[in-house]
Amino acid sequence: MRHFTDSKTKNKPSLNDALAGIKRPRRGEQFTPAALSKLDENLRQNGPIQTTGPAPQVPARAVRGCDGVWDLIIDTCPYCHCRHFHGGGGADQPSSYGHRNSHCGPWFDNPGYILEGEA
Ligand SMILES: [Zn+2]
Repeated sequence: MRHFTDSKTKNKPSLNDALAGIKRPRRGEQFTPAALSKLDENLRQNGPIQTTGPAPQVPARAVRGCDGVWDLIIDTCPYCHCRHFHGGGGADQPSSYGHRNSHCGPWFDNPGYILEGEA
């Protein structure tokens, strides 16, 4: 397990090093079965891919379902690049922005992110 003391790097080298050889999803797509196999192998050998430091701010798209409940959608997760969905409440306007745990699966360990409404 590696630790970085320089906050300016935002741990990107560690994330990219850990993901070397693993094809990350394009915007809105999910991991391929081959990439998931590599992530599983990495998890067995090294544990989850760890990112430390402050949670980044991420714009979330608010989409209201036909049941009236809002989804707050991140199209490209800063960690795994997958699309993630978070509940945004059932009021007239979406709520529940702010800090959330990421939905990256067991292969990643990170501080989550801060959902922000799109302008
Ligand atoms: Zn993710």
